[in-house]
Amino acid sequence: MEEVARALAASKSAVAFTGAGVSAESGVPTFRGAGGLWERYRPEELATPEAFERDPDLVWRWYKWRQELIYAADPNPAHLALAELERLGVLKAVITQNVDGLHRKAGSRRVVELHGNIWRVRCTSCGREFPVEKPVGEIPPRCPICGGLLRPAVVWFGEPLPRGAWEEALSLASSADFMLVVGTSGVVYPAAHIPRIAKRNGAVIAVVDPGETALDDIADFKIRGKAAEILPRLVAEVRRCLT
Ligand code: NAD
Ligand code: ZN
Repeated sequence: MEEVARALAASKSAVAFTGAGVSAESGVPTFRGAGGLWERYRPEELATPEAFERDPDLVWRWYKWRQELIYAADPNPAHLALAELERLGVLKAVITQNVDGLHRKAGSRRVVELHGNIWRVRCTSCGREFPVEKPVGEIPPRCPICGGLLRPAVVWFGEPLPRGAWEEALSLASSADFMLVVGTSGVVYPAAHIPRIAKRNGAVIAVVDPGETALDDIADFKIRGKAAEILPRLVAEVRRCLT
């Protein structure tokens, strides 16, 4: 931990790369190891354009359930720690695979959302995008302009990433000298290229996760533990290094 904090405090262009695990302690379940009502479905069977075409009601019921969980969720100490690192001038940005918006809610300013945001919807007919403030009511929701079927404006398996977000992530990753990888299994591509690109360009990689991840092979440091416990301790250490 001390060594990681020293390297982070000494870095010039540190970036965080986060996944579902960073929001686990806010009560938002991860994909791998999700619980409850939806356990019998695999996300790969719901978060796809094919699933939506086959059964938009089913996919929307799942998203409504997730929206309700996220609506009730607050940022946890892990999100707050990352926002704090940005305020300290230590972290340049957070690149996230999450769609829950909790990094911004925690106060992070530069957030690159690789997989979209669950609080936006897009019309499958006219292509317009709209923000939504609350979990959807009637299912499936309809476009207020053309009456077309709305879908969540998130990236599903097999879909390309939003170009702007991807390019920003690429540029951050190629210039990063330190990447803090938090709560991601590292198996979802192309997102998982980001820490690999950072590594290839010479960044020090620190992985924070209670379990093994597919990115452990590039980790210079591996801190095993829950994000909401580890990150606040890391920030405290970084502060000590800065004074
Ligand atoms: P994942 O579900 O594949 O992996 C979650 C990782 O988090 C695992 O490595 C697990 O060990 C770790 N983890 C569990 N609890 C943790 C904790 N308390 N602290 C730190 N780590 C913890 O998630 P992924 O890698 O993000 O990839 C799945 C895809 O699912 C992403 O593309 C993302 O868009 C989507 N997703 C998003 C959310 C969200 O927005 N909150 C939630 C679920 C899935
Ligand atoms: Zn429309």
